Amino acid sequence: MYESERKQMVEFQLKRRGISDKGVLEAMHSVPRHLFLSETTRSMAYGDFAVPITNNQTISQPYIVAQMLELLDLNKSDRVLEVGSGSGYVLALLSRLVRKAIGLERIPELAEKSRKPLKEVKADNVIVIQGDGSEGKVQYAPFDKILVSAAVPEPPKKLLDQLKTGGILVAPIGSRMQQKLVRITKLPNGYKETYHGDCAFVPLIGKGGFEL
Ligand code: SAM
Repeated sequence: MYESERKQMVEFQLKRRGISDKGVLEAMHSVPRHLFLSETTRSMAYGDFAVPITNNQTISQPYIVAQMLELLDLNKSDRVLEVGSGSGYVLALLSRLVRKAIGLERIPELAEKSRKPLKEVKADNVIVIQGDGSEGKVQYAPFDKILVSAAVPEPPKKLLDQLKTGGILVAPIGSRMQQKLVRITKLPNGYKETYHGDCAFVPLIGKGGFEL
């Protein structure tokens, strides 16, 4: 179902805008994004925009998802943390790209709801943990890669502490309304930051993010 829409999404929204990571393109072609949306918004699943999910949250635009995953430079052996796993769609993509993915989601209803489609797509190497993930999950650290799927006001120190040396964190950093997409690589003696354009994510709410 929606096979041709998915193919067009990959061709026109991703490849033509410069996404070239084969693994990311294949994952986005194969994972049925519509399963992570409710019946009423399913027809919007492959559009070039973010789609509302429940609790005033969104599933991000396909292009920005692909861009973030490409920036993470994922390897099959990676253990990855996603902070703000929402519908579970990005976790489903990660399940095809890495060894293990751990999703942290603040809203109990969303965390619970995401487990069903993840099971349907056989994302068996993925877990969803409900709670404030703004300071990561030390029990599961260190991670090879960390994806922050909601806006943070500054480079997230506690999350960076849970990254391996040589690891990469990608996050939208800025104000509640607008951010820059930033890639931070942890080096033996510091961090290297690169910037990848403007974006507008919902805020990460919690100790390491914004106030409610
Ligand atoms: N990547 C997700 C997907 O595939 O559906 C979409 C992420 S949505 C843009 C951002 C998510 O971050 C929301 O589901 C929101 O509830 C969650 N969030 C906000 N603050 C959080 C926190 N402190 N810990 C964990 N999740 C949080």
